[in-house]
Amino acid sequence: MSNRTFTMIKPDAVKAGNIGNILQMINAGGFRIAAMKYTKISRQQAEKFYEVHAARPFYSELTEFMSSGPIVAAILEKENAVADFRKLIGATNPANAEEGTIRKRYAASIGENAVHGSDSDENAKIEGDFFFNGLEQF
Ligand code: GDP
Repeated sequence: MSNRTFTMIKPDAVKAGNIGNILQMINAGGFRIAAMKYTKISRQQAEKFYEVHAARPFYSELTEFMSSGPIVAAILEKENAVADFRKLIGATNPANAEEGTIRKRYAASIGENAVHGSDSDENAKIEGDFFFNGLEQF
């Protein structure tokens, strides 16, 4: 079990002005910020990041959305980070997300769902390294 996960505050949540609210929930959830940047990815970078979903019907919509505006990318640290962060963000579809989760509060739809959270330790490492070099991870 690793103690790090990777997150993005997605373009919908940035546009809606929810960066601060979401960071506050992340801090309140006991996560330490090990890396963070405000950035925007190209369509090509989004396609690379979400390569595992290439065969899914929503791949095109997803990569268009994720490259549509700035995001906040971050590596978060906490014991049991991956599982605990998935709990904090809630179900992919906000309609199914539990009360008090980030997606329940701030996500509009299954596609534009406010935040990303890695689904495994292995992917957390791959995704964190996609955005941050060694000098940017603390
Ligand atoms: P996650 O791990 O909860 O983020 O969910 P998945 O790994 O299944 O999907 C990755 C991302 O693809 C989700 O966070 C959504 O932004 C998007 N996505 C998933 N399912 C759908 C869908 O049915 N329609 C659309 N438009 N986007 C989806």
